[in-house]
Amino acid sequence: MERLWAPWRSQFMADIARGKTFECIFCSRPDGGDKECFILWRGTHTFMLLNLYPYNPGHLMVAPYRHVTEYGDLTNEEFAEQQDALRRAIAALRSTTKPDGFNIGTNLGKAAGAGFPHLHTHLVPRWSGDANFMATVAEAKLVSESLETTYGKLKEALTKSI
Ligand SMILES: [Zn+2]
Repeated sequence: MERLWAPWRSQFMADIARGKTFECIFCSRPDGGDKECFILWRGTHTFMLLNLYPYNPGHLMVAPYRHVTEYGDLTNEEFAEQQDALRRAIAALRSTTKPDGFNIGTNLGKAAGAGFPHLHTHLVPRWSGDANFMATVAEAKLVSESLETTYGKLKEALTKSI
């Protein structure tokens, strides 16, 4: 399996491994402004935000507003809206940055790599060759787009789709 290399994630994951605690961003971010907090979309039960330590441009997450840690804790409405949000996000990414594929995943528990216990699902756009020579041999990866640029494109696409 090809792995994406994102060295800027290392410090964050090292801090978590050492037991450093952070405020729950999925609880606090919805209180901030959309642009300041990179919130792309707000539903009734869930919201969508850009990952600040992306594996690829457009790496985003969908989470319920409620601080729940297990799939079984989601209401049917939260679960359904989370799936709908992922569907919207895929459409927005396809219309803007035209990925060749997507990874969708949820890490449940620290052992599985979850940085925050608040249930959230990652959507990572993939392009053919994105785990390429630069990433695997030179241990460097070029992120070709700023978070602000990605945010602007996706926010516009999501607004159009509503
Ligand atoms: Zn939370």
